[in-house]
Amino acid sequence: MVNKALYAEKLKSINSKLSAHTNLLIVTKTRSLEEIQAYYDLGHRDFGENRVQELEDKARDLAKTCPDIRWHMIGHLQTNKVNTLFKIANLRAIHSVHDLHLVDRLIKGQEKLRHPIDIFLQFNTSREEEKSGFETYTELVEAAEFILKSEKLKLRGLMTMGTLRTENFEAEARRCFQELQVEKDKLQSEFNIKLETSMGMSQDYEIALEEKSSWIRLGTMMFL
Ligand SMILES: *Cc1c(COP(=O)(O)O)cnc(C)c1O
Repeated sequence: MVNKALYAEKLKSINSKLSAHTNLLIVTKTRSLEEIQAYYDLGHRDFGENRVQELEDKARDLAKTCPDIRWHMIGHLQTNKVNTLFKIANLRAIHSVHDLHLVDRLIKGQEKLRHPIDIFLQFNTSREEEKSGFETYTELVEAAEFILKSEKLKLRGLMTMGTLRTENFEAEARRCFQELQVEKDKLQSEFNIKLETSMGMSQDYEIALEEKSSWIRLGTMMFL
């Protein structure tokens, strides 16, 4: 059973910490349809999943009862899953576009999209081996050029994750988030566009808010 009163409290408490330029993405991987429906019924609309199959199933099962839901893909995206992802109604954004090969594949598949979607380029600020993401500014520029020329992919911003294995979690998270803002500023001036940042999870979202994140992605803490 879902404790709706508790969810209402959590949502209110988080939303009260957000400034006008910050959005909350509720991450629902491994969570049930009832849990998602509860937050939807409380008025929340932006939800994130990290696997295409799970996202596809949930989008289908919630299509009727959550007609205005906005789905965000936030996990590692394999090129062979792009077509499936693009067929999902209410797909709004991909936060995890991690290399040029994937950019190429997204552009080739874009006619399958029913409507334009937002793209965040993932940047590997922690330099941890197992993390995906672009690693140089030059690559970011190249990816941005392709996306800006595309029809249905809208370049919305940059995404990152803070360092996981570290003695100094807070300082490392702050360093990663500041680095992402620097890369974002450079891209903004390079192309004369306005961009956002997607950074901050349950453990480090308060630091992300201090570093002016545009999107915090919260899973665990929204369901405890
Ligand atoms: C799971 C996940 C989150 C949410 O993490 P929590 O620690 O549960 O808040 C955010 N971003 C990505 C990419 C994730 O995979």
